[in-house]
Amino acid sequence: MDEPYPGVRRLTFRLPLAIDHVHCYLLRGSDDSWTLVDTGLGVDEPAAVWEPVLAELDGPVRRIVITHMHPDHVGGARDAAAVTGAPVLQGREDYEQCVRAWGQTPTAAGLARFMAANGMPHGQVEESAGQNAKLRARVHWVEGPELLEPGDEVDGWRVELLRGHADGHIVLLREGVMVAGDVLLGQITPTIGLYPGGRPDPLGDYLETLARIAELAPRLALPGHHGVIDDPVGRAREIAEHHRERLDTAAAALNEEPRSAYDVSLRLFESELSPTQRRFALAESLAHLERLVYAGRAARGDGGYVAA
Ligand SMILES: [Zn+2]
Repeated sequence: MDEPYPGVRRLTFRLPLAIDHVHCYLLRGSDDSWTLVDTGLGVDEPAAVWEPVLAELDGPVRRIVITHMHPDHVGGARDAAAVTGAPVLQGREDYEQCVRAWGQTPTAAGLARFMAANGMPHGQVEESAGQNAKLRARVHWVEGPELLEPGDEVDGWRVELLRGHADGHIVLLREGVMVAGDVLLGQITPTIGLYPGGRPDPLGDYLETLARIAELAPRLALPGHHGVIDDPVGRAREIAEHHRERLDTAAAALNEEPRSAYDVSLRLFESELSPTQRRFALAESLAHLERLVYAGRAARGDGGYVAA
């Protein structure tokens, strides 16, 4: 563990995913206890992972806060709760999406159908579904957490709802420091994807989030991946510009012939990708295409999207 900000410890786990690590944070509390933010992926032997972490702290973990329902953030929630005895706190909307995504297996079949309906070739749908099932086994989420609403306080940290990367993504803010989850990342841009059952315009949501970050004007963001961000407002501006360019590229890929979102994703993401990364690319392309539809720059045609 290191200490990227006074009173905040950073705990990093290796991941067997396209991104090779995730950061969790420990916030020193008012009474020498700690708040754990995010939990990595679930493991077979929670005590072996979490007891050494607890041994480095000078007080108990009083609560566990989840920023969002992605596997590398919520996956170890049940494990960490079992070892610490602490309650899990999760945003209300994020918990709803967590239940939809991980609660019952029919959703997995629904996801595969959704990808196929948007033009992904059968073999890739199968492979990506297989990888998803494997990952699902490592998502040890907690049923019935304490639910957080925007504006709630958690030991002096304010809960802010910043949608886009996940529908109900929350961050914690105190004195200009933002524990950011995946709302802002330094070296890469957070993935923004459209998924069945999710909000209809996630990229629109995310562009609002980036504008909101400029208003909140944190001076430091502690993200779930890569380094500390010491100019969060500047980084939010860069990412917004990146999406404006990607929207133009997506718009330029359309004409009067309907084109599937999968076809557009091959244009937006040209490099060789694994089936799972292809699924992310498709979900991300759908988010861009739907944003274009809402902006009046594209329309949904028969079997795909057309220029408007
Ligand atoms: Zn995430």
